[in-house]
Amino acid sequence: MTAAERWRLRASLEERVRELAAAYRHAHAPLTPDRLVGGIGYRWRAAALAGRDGLLERRSRTVVVAADQAAARRRFTLAHEVMHHLIEQDGELLSDLHEAYEGAALERALERLCNLGAAEMLLPASAVRRALVEAGPNPRLIWELAERHGVSEAVAGIALAGALGPRALAAVWGGRPLVLYHGHGPGAPARGSVLPDDHLLAQVRASGLPHRGPLRLPSGAHAPSAWARARAGRVYLLAPEVEGGG
Ligand SMILES: [Zn+2]
Repeated sequence: MTAAERWRLRASLEERVRELAAAYRHAHAPLTPDRLVGGIGYRWRAAALAGRDGLLERRSRTVVVAADQAAARRRFTLAHEVMHHLIEQDGELLSDLHEAYEGAALERALERLCNLGAAEMLLPASAVRRALVEAGPNPRLIWELAERHGVSEAVAGIALAGALGPRALAAVWGGRPLVLYHGHGPGAPARGSVLPDDHLLAQVRASGLPHRGPLRLPSGAHAPSAWARARAGRVYLLAPEVEGGG
């Protein structure tokens, strides 16, 4: 397979995983935890899981989720495990996946595809695009979409960055001092990294006033048209285009 063919195969895998997830949502909505796993004939229970979020217990047809997860996180974990099952059951998808990736890269790709499918299941790309058309790249969409669809702000950020394009960044800071809670896209600082007090984004929180315009990110990357706002002690950022973020 040439590099171009492999790239096309990988892109088509993503597309088909999204379609699989969307079809599952249409068939089983509303996706309460019971209905989420019921669609594949499974039940679910919470248990102490060392170092992982969830797993499929095939013999008892049960999805086990880590006991310490909040409701939104638990739904995402259930959807992720359901995606594992759906991909396993799809012979063609599975064989293309093995053609497109191998070894450790295959494992990583599978996890990423299950996250992609879970996000599409719970927060449809069509709803994200509609919200962006109505509101523009407004960072309030991060908390609004999370609340409206019962997902975490991290999932809403992934979906928004995905809908805005490959150079887009979505990020949320919080705590004292301000640290990065989650960021997706080029130029995203490391999770947990501290934002200096004199940074523009720290001033957005201190003043409560939004910032709209160019922004130099702590990573050194530059966003020509960033939009940041503060809410409940957090700072939310959406930037449709980031330059020099790697
Ligand atoms: Zn997984």
